[in-house]
Amino acid sequence: MKIGVLALQGAFIEHIKVLRSLGVEAVEIRKPEQLNDLDGLIIPGGESTTFGKLAVTYGLIEPIRAMCVAGKPVWGTCAGMIFLAKDIGRDQPLIGVMDVKVKRNAFGRQVDSFETDLDVPVLEPRAPFHAIFIRAPLIERVGQGVEVLARLDDGTIVAARQGNLLATSFHPELTQDTRFHRYFLNLK
Ligand code: GLN
Repeated sequence: MKIGVLALQGAFIEHIKVLRSLGVEAVEIRKPEQLNDLDGLIIPGGESTTFGKLAVTYGLIEPIRAMCVAGKPVWGTCAGMIFLAKDIGRDQPLIGVMDVKVKRNAFGRQVDSFETDLDVPVLEPRAPFHAIFIRAPLIERVGQGVEVLARLDDGTIVAARQGNLLATSFHPELTQDTRFHRYFLNLK
């Protein structure tokens, strides 16, 4: 199995390390032609406006969109989630395939970053998942066909799946817990 990690900017090395620790071939993606023989793609955390600019420059928007539409597993963490969303309430380049409305920097400045334990029923074995949020977005609304995977205690949606597409507000690659990566590798 060969998984690409979009490596324009942001926390791509951490995802590559987790994938390799799971015995998966993991490659840094910077050019459209590198997407051709992948079994899946991870779009990491970072800065979604920067991803947008660079992805437009390198001609990556359309090929990544095509991969999503073709049913290949694609996972966006944090800025990657913003990049996958159809609606973020403002104009910036997006892949725009996942039927969710996302709010950027949703937790305000003072609480830029926090950590909390989440219940994520789809993970195996079932046990709290320690989630790290860094200037994180949240999911304000999900469309039909989008499954909510995790919420904060106040009901805020922070992880969702739409078929082959996965989105998390937080950063599983910054913990030692590989359950989310293993869940992604089993998406079909
Ligand atoms: N605040 C960033 C954005 O809006 C996302 C932060 C992150 O990926 N850790 O793109």
